[in-house]
Amino acid sequence: MKKKFDLDTILDTLLSVLPSGQKPVALHEPLFQGNEWNYVKESLDSGWVSSAGKYVDRFEKYLSEYTGAKHVIAVVNGTAALYTCLLLAGVTRDDEVFVPALTFVATANAVSYCGAVPHFADCEERTLGLDPFKLAAYLEEISELRPDGCFNKKSGRRIRAVIPMHTFGQPVDIDPLLEVCRRFRLVLVEDAAESLGSFYKGYHTGSRSEFSALSFNGNKIITTGGGGAILTNNASLAASAKHLTTQAKLPHPWSFHHDRVGYNYRMPDINAALGCAQLEQLPDFLEKKRSLALRYQKAFAEIEGVKIFREADFARSNYWLNVLLLDEKYSSNRDTLLELTNGLGIKTRPAWTLIPKLPMYQSCPQMDLSVAESLERRLINLPSSAFL
Ligand SMILES: *Cc1c(COP(=O)(O)O)cnc(C)c1O
Repeated sequence: MKKKFDLDTILDTLLSVLPSGQKPVALHEPLFQGNEWNYVKESLDSGWVSSAGKYVDRFEKYLSEYTGAKHVIAVVNGTAALYTCLLLAGVTRDDEVFVPALTFVATANAVSYCGAVPHFADCEERTLGLDPFKLAAYLEEISELRPDGCFNKKSGRRIRAVIPMHTFGQPVDIDPLLEVCRRFRLVLVEDAAESLGSFYKGYHTGSRSEFSALSFNGNKIITTGGGGAILTNNASLAASAKHLTTQAKLPHPWSFHHDRVGYNYRMPDINAALGCAQLEQLPDFLEKKRSLALRYQKAFAEIEGVKIFREADFARSNYWLNVLLLDEKYSSNRDTLLELTNGLGIKTRPAWTLIPKLPMYQSCPQMDLSVAESLERRLINLPSSAFL
């Protein structure tokens, strides 16, 4: 027999999983217990603290080996990585780009920087990410394939790309999404900012699409302070990505010549030094986070009306942030739970406000978003630091 749904029972269960006596408990804290100080010192001692130092190359090489993506370009943050991916995917002014309604605002902002319009897509409960089947049915209804691409029949705009996001580290169902992109001639750009260490059918997230973006912000599974990376398997796109993110400077020992408007998005060496040390610990972080996720899953399985999100059967998640989902009939308890836990110094938080509800995105096109709306009402992120 399961225990009845009750806020005290939920709080007790949460406390039983977390180490006792340690307050406050953050949502996600970085851990620096490896070679961080050594590598950062070495970077400082070398004098090459900007992008010409050896750690940037080393960090890119490690990331390429780990993810299986042939080319990696380290940049200043995940948002810049995503924006650069979209530019290289050919997203231009007045294009439409599909973005899941449930994501961090950066996904939609990167589309806006291109002068393009985000078109909001629904999610599926199995992955918390973009629903490829619902997207296919919707495209069938609203789009038209012309010689120069896929067009939205209602808005008249070209639909150029789709940006799935691996929510809290849970891989999106990529195979059917790749199929949708082939069929409707769309470019797949993965927002893998939250999913370093997450795999889909044995492939690292972001390693199979045209482009993808990682983030190493302070709250992510590994951090470089601030940082991001572009992954691609295409050598010429990789060269373009590097060119565009280094002020489009033509290589030359002394002369400064640039052949287009570029960006200063290169990751500094000092950040990459931190990243190299963090990457060495990633397998350990992953193991600890999986064990925390299993403890949450086991403890909350005893309570009626709630569940801890588990990876889909095709996925191996990094369990970056654990998710407590309330059944729809209990969703009105979400805010009380947030208040109670935060009041006790246990940092929990709701899902992001759906992007199409934000003032700057309210007038953008959207499909039926019933699943994303339901997830938004019922979802709570639980403390997920690796050392818990
Ligand atoms: C963190 C994050 C980003 C942006 O990364 P920054 O490095 O903070 O710019 C983009 N998308 C998602 C889904 C993220 O969680």
